[in-house]
Amino acid sequence: MEKIIQKLKIRIYGDPCLCQKAEAVKEAGIAERMLFEAMIETMYKEKGVGLAAPQVGVNKQIFVVDVGEGPVVVVNPKVIKKSGCAVMEEGCLSVPEIVVKIKRPEKILVKYIDENNQLVEKQYSELMARVFLHEMDHLSGKMIVDYAGWRQKFQIRKQLEELSAESI
Ligand SMILES: [Zn+2]
Repeated sequence: MEKIIQKLKIRIYGDPCLCQKAEAVKEAGIAERMLFEAMIETMYKEKGVGLAAPQVGVNKQIFVVDVGEGPVVVVNPKVIKKSGCAVMEEGCLSVPEIVVKIKRPEKILVKYIDENNQLVEKQYSELMARVFLHEMDHLSGKMIVDYAGWRQKFQIRKQLEELSAESI
């Protein structure tokens, strides 16, 4: 784990780390705390609003989010309730220069473990709900391009091939 933390590198589309189901975390220990910090740092450095562990090659149910209200660490998230529906363009650090219009619930009630192993139950809406669900997708190996319609998939296929080639 220490080696991974020393140099977090954003995994790009085509990297097998991005397609796996992430494993649940038993407890946030010292190694996990170091990872949270490194992930938050990397998220800010890359100017993202969220970053999931699989995006840095760690196959665990962990992500960090900051939509402008400070960093939030999320471990083993579950959506309890969702409502509403909104469409918004999303980008992703692992799929640079591509945006996809994605329909997602507007409001969610979620539960997760925070960086202090405390169980949190919270309601999120708007951008926070969107980023939360985007990062949750990463934990099940799903990416924004999976939401693209056939027309857009056709348009971006060359870009994706190039990204895959670079990620090897
Ligand atoms: Zn992403």
